[in-house]
Amino acid sequence: MFAFDTTYTSLPATFFTPQAPTPITASATAPQFLAVNRPLAEALGLDLDWLSGPEGLAILAGNRVTDGSTPIAQAYAGHQFGGWVPRLGDGRAVLLGELAGDFGQALPHRVDVALKGSGPTPYSRRGDGRAWMGPVLREYLVSEAIAALGVPTTRALAAVATGARVQRERGYPGAVLTRVAASHLRVGTFQYATAAAMASDAPPEERLRDLQALCDYAIARHYPDADGALGLLDAVVAAQATLIADWMAVGFIHGVMNTDNMAISGETIDYGPCAFMDGYHPQKVFSSIDRMGRYAFANQPSIAAWNLAQLATSLLPLMEGTEDAAIEAATRSVNGFVEIFQARWLRNFGRKIGIAQATTDDLPLIEGLLSRMGTGQVDFTRVFAGLSEGTAATEFTEAHAWTSWAPEWEARLTREEDPVGIMRATNPRRIPRNHRVEEMIQAAVEGDMAPFEHLLAACRAPYETRPEWEDLARGPLKDEEVRQTFCGT
Ligand code: AMP
Ligand code: MG
Repeated sequence: MFAFDTTYTSLPATFFTPQAPTPITASATAPQFLAVNRPLAEALGLDLDWLSGPEGLAILAGNRVTDGSTPIAQAYAGHQFGGWVPRLGDGRAVLLGELAGDFGQALPHRVDVALKGSGPTPYSRRGDGRAWMGPVLREYLVSEAIAALGVPTTRALAAVATGARVQRERGYPGAVLTRVAASHLRVGTFQYATAAAMASDAPPEERLRDLQALCDYAIARHYPDADGALGLLDAVVAAQATLIADWMAVGFIHGVMNTDNMAISGETIDYGPCAFMDGYHPQKVFSSIDRMGRYAFANQPSIAAWNLAQLATSLLPLMEGTEDAAIEAATRSVNGFVEIFQARWLRNFGRKIGIAQATTDDLPLIEGLLSRMGTGQVDFTRVFAGLSEGTAATEFTEAHAWTSWAPEWEARLTREEDPVGIMRATNPRRIPRNHRVEEMIQAAVEGDMAPFEHLLAACRAPYETRPEWEDLARGPLKDEEVRQTFCGT
């Protein structure tokens, strides 16, 4: 069973609404598991037989509330594509509870267990509170792939087919995702608290009480060494700068980096129309709803910094000293993003070309390769994986692009101890390519989970080569290319 130990509900009532999942009634077939994440369940100390049995299924389908669970929907605000939305919140998610314990190195000591697609909440606005199989399986697969690449992320514990239809552009099979996260605190959670404080006509000493409680909670849960609001901001800036540099190193495009989709914990969260790049181009966009290219690949660091400036603004009222002093300190904190990001980026891309500890002297070499890759839009993953295998040259359609770069690189590597080892441990052979993800979704909708299993296994061992996974390592043929992933939530 789930031994929930929930702390979020000790926060002021403004931050959540009690909300049970909505049982599935109008379903032709009974709910059934599409996937159960065994390694994750084991790490969390859950009883697998129970979890994958009838009781686990009923709970993860949202049909039963387990003892000790106090399900809630969380409140938050956010900037969506730059526009302010004062009240968003979990429109189709509920937090079942928190689990606490020592879950091993890869997991925090306290995690949220939440359902996504489990029915409407007071924050649903015009939405139906549901999700369909496509986005649920995409999030499951891509978040597991991101985790296997060593990048901080929320995890997928299970995916359940509800048996009911969900109406989008057309009818689709409904599904519920069980998500495990370090927490669901977002930049937008702070924005929500601050907006409420500003709108309040309570006496000044009462006005900031909720915001202060949220700040204290976030520090205690994620950054116990942080000193006050400014310390929290510094910590989130550092975590996000590292995260975004890690995304860039694997060619990941989040797609919807709204402030409500940015976690205080520094985990990747809210996988929507996200994708890994095939052909490299810095301005690549995948989301069909991102018409202006706001969240294009190369814009991700500056958007993250913009989002963090919104967090800084939200935390200002809690900062010590005069308003001017607080603004100056907060600005300095957010500006610190650039240095942390650049250092991590340099480390990551240095390792990608076989340099253990790259310095700024190595930047021209790294940038030289990327600009040549961008010109030909050559395959990001294959070029880097090919560096250690001697196949990178064949990825370039124009021979000169490679021959004008390689000699200098080879010369540089003579100063490295184990460049091939570093590259093999850094550059994945496989990423969940978009055309494979779409193919997997198509098959799942038709009742065939084999492509999901196959792709998941391959993405969980991204540095390994196996003959049966070779076809997943190649880029899309012209007619397989997927240019956008639709929100289709
Ligand atoms: P997202 O950009 O997908 O993270 O969602 C933005 C907001 O819309 C959040 O407040 C979600 O809870 C809400 N939302 C998304 N899809 C639905 C849905 N089908 N029903 C209700 N709310 C939704
Ligand atoms: Mg969201």
